[in-house]
Amino acid sequence: MRACKVCHRLTEDEVCGLCNSPTTQYWSGYLAVLNPEQSEIAKRMDIKSPGQYALKAR
Ligand SMILES: [Zn+2]
Repeated sequence: MRACKVCHRLTEDEVCGLCNSPTTQYWSGYLAVLNPEQSEIAKRMDIKSPGQYALKAR
């Protein structure tokens, strides 16, 4: 599993399907977002769509 360097979305691809940024295999902290509008963490990380995310990616 890889994580987008910009929006932190988890994906299998080399490029993020959400923002077209490169992804990295170096990430930590799993976050599942079901309702971005109701999640404080999602708001803080500026997550707009439901999905799986990494808390940190580099
Ligand atoms: Zn992205």
